[in-house]
This record gives sequence, C-alpha cells and structure tokens, in this order.
Amino acid sequence: MIHLGCIADDFTGATDLANNLVRAGMRVVQTIGVPSGPLAEAADAVVVALKSRTIAPEAAVEQSLAACRWLRAQGASQIYFKVCSTFDSTAEGNIGPVTEALMDELLAPFCVVTPAFPENGRTVFKGHLFVGDLLLSDSPMRLHPLTPMTDANLVRVLQAQLGVQRGRKVGLIERGTVAAGASAIRERIEVLKAQGTTLAIADAVDNADLWHLAEALKGALLMTAGSGLAIGLPAQFGIEPATEAARLPAPTGAQAIVSGSCSSATQAQVAAFVRAGGEAFEVAPLRIASGVDVVSEALAWALPRLARGPVLVYATAAPEAVRQVQQQLGVERAGAIVEDTLGRIARAFVECGVAQLVVAGGETSGACVQALGITQMRIGPQIDPGVPWCHAVSPVSGSRGLHLALKSGNFGAVDFFSRAFETLRR
Ligand code: ADP
Repeated sequence: MIHLGCIADDFTGATDLANNLVRAGMRVVQTIGVPSGPLAEAADAVVVALKSRTIAPEAAVEQSLAACRWLRAQGASQIYFKVCSTFDSTAEGNIGPVTEALMDELLAPFCVVTPAFPENGRTVFKGHLFVGDLLLSDSPMRLHPLTPMTDANLVRVLQAQLGVQRGRKVGLIERGTVAAGASAIRERIEVLKAQGTTLAIADAVDNADLWHLAEALKGALLMTAGSGLAIGLPAQFGIEPATEAARLPAPTGAQAIVSGSCSSATQAQVAAFVRAGGEAFEVAPLRIASGVDVVSEALAWALPRLARGPVLVYATAAPEAVRQVQQQLGVERAGAIVEDTLGRIARAFVECGVAQLVVAGGETSGACVQALGITQMRIGPQIDPGVPWCHAVSPVSGSRGLHLALKSGNFGAVDFFSRAFETLRR
C-alpha cells in the first residue's frame, strides 16, 4: 500500500515532484495517465502524470478525480495535487476547479495551497509569488503563450478560479505564522475555518518554511502545491533520506541520446557532446518532409557505433534554422514530423539493444515515451536538478526494461549528456 498519492498536471512537473520525493527517501513510481489496473510494484508514493494544465476545466476535473480514486484504491492516505511553481493556469482554472473537486471527493475540510520552492527561486510572501527577484506579474511568465500570469497575488488568482456557487473563500497563512512552526500553522487554519475560509495560500521563503508546512499538514487529506512542499512530506510518514530509495536495476545494453529540444541549454549540451568527440547524427526536418527515410538512415549510421559508447541523434538547431524550417513547413507540422521521427528512432534503437536512453525536450520525451509504449516508470537517482534516471518496462524492451532520462529543454548542465551515463554507472 502506498502512503502518498500525487496528481500532476503535466509530465515534466510529475518527474520533478517524483525526484524530490525520492531525494527525501520515498520509493516512487510515476505513471503516464491513470493506470487501468492495480500497481504491480512496491512504492511509497505514486505520481500520476496528467496533461491537464491547459485543457478544459471539466476535463481536468474528470481526469484528476479518476487519478484520485485510483490512488486511494492503492492505499494513499494523502493526496498531493502538483501544480506549476509559477501557478500556471488560465482565468477559468484549472488549479481552483480541480482543488475544489478533490476537496469534495475527499471530504477535505481545508486545503493549503503553495507553489513555493525557494531552492528554485519560487517564494511566496504575503500571498504574492516571486520568480527569483521579480513578482510573478513582472516575470517573463506575464507573456506565456498559453497561461500568461499577470497577477502575483495568489489569494486573488485562486479565489477567482473557485466556483461562485460553492461559496468557498481563500485566506492566507502569512510568513510569520509559517516560520513560527507547525502548531502556529494549525492554529491559523482553525481560525480561518471558524471564519468560514476553507482554502489558504501559504507563504514560504525558505526550506524551513516548507518543513513547517509539511509537519502541519501531517494527516491532511489534500494539499495543492508545486514540487517544493514534497521535500518535507516523507519525514511525516517516518521515512528518511536513503540512497536505497533511488535504487534501480543495474544498467544494461547500449547507450543513446535523442534530442529534439531547441532550448539554449540543449543547444549547448549538443555542442559540448560533439566537441568532446561524441558520435552525432543530425536529423534534418526538410529531408523528413521530402520523404527520405531518416529513421532507417539514423539506424544504419548508429548500429556499427553503438558498441563503442553513447550515440547522439539530434534535430536540435539554432533559432534561425528552426525559423526557416517552420516557415517552409508550418510550426505545427515541423514540430510533429520531428517528434514522430525521433520517437520512431528511439523505438528502433531500443529494438536494436539500446537500454540506456536520454531524451532531451519535453514534447520530444512525450513522443518517445509514447513510441515505446511506456505506461509507468520507477524514479531513480538525480542527474541534475529536476532530471532523474528512471527505469521503465516497455513492450519493445522486453522483460529487462530500459533506463530513461527525460530532460526538459532548459534543464541540465552543459556536460549533461556524458555525465548522465556516469551517474547511472555509479
Ligand atoms: P523543449 O523542452 O526544449 O521545449 P520540446 O521537445 O518540448 O523541447 O520542443 C521542441 C519542439 O521543436 C518539438 O516539437 C520538436 O519536434 C521541434 N523541433 C526540434 N528540432 C527542430 C528543428 N530543427 N526545426 C523545427 N522544429 C524542431
């Protein structure tokens, strides 16, 4: 039976949360969507990864409730709704509607909400979210294409997302109270409840604040948070940090990297890998579009090299080159054909014996995981902040499974690709 059940509103956010729980000592499995059957392996926590951040609120609620019911059936006594640390959401939701639906489902009398993660520069003070030194509403998030965040006052943002007919009110647990410790936080919650307030944004500006909140939330049915609050939760279940929690099966097979991210960090990582003498094959989107069988080409190139060390296949390109491709093919088509090709290359590699695979790019990771038919992964040791190794069983990999590291675009140091395999070897 698991202790903690987590519902994440996007894929890389799920991995980020899982990574924090593993570092704090929990054995964690991440599932892609809601599983159809019971959990087959031992774990302290399960993170169900949804893609519900920007879908219609009704669909986000339905999927989150399905995840909640499945997690409860696996024994979860506490539900953690994981949202973005920049509180990414639209005017309609989905943080408010999903939180309320989960409160109703669990009969939770109160829900603490905090996206704070001071280690990553996300702090909340007097209910206002800061991204580094900037208020959320002054940060680049104000220009986000899908979820522009123009108000840093989270009490106001969350209140506006709640259903008027339900009549719930959002309050604030201020820093002074949080810093005073778990008893002060619990007392504040009781005061808020007596005033008819059933949700509260909690301030947190350092790790100690998150620890106090986690202690105060011991036994709470529900919390809504970024991945930061997770650092203090395992201790509330009597679990301590242990390398054992991150243990994965021993690595086997050949090593490969598939990169479809064009973010600046990934560009530097590809360049560093090539500069250090790594074997690399460039996938050109226009050749795919003109009908060339790039998957077979990549495979023919890679096969004689796989025995000698990691090979890199990349579509990663500088902004100007990407723009030219997008002008010719359209933004969506360019993205889709590259993702499809890289997914098929990843699958072909695994069919040919690759069992340690690094994928760069959020969407690219989604395409590769789908092409490999992966539905759940055990979370292992961290390579760089937010990026752990995972172990998954895929219909393609056979019973020995494969090791996977899914890196979202801007994560990882410049030598990420080579260091990733060293981390796994250790
Ligand atoms: P990130 O995490 O860096 O945002 P993603 O994989 O999420 O990376 O997104 C990168 C997108 O760019 C994908 O849709 C991918 O297919 C596309 N792409 C990759 N290389 C190229 C290229 N050379 N030209 C055009 N689009 C590309």
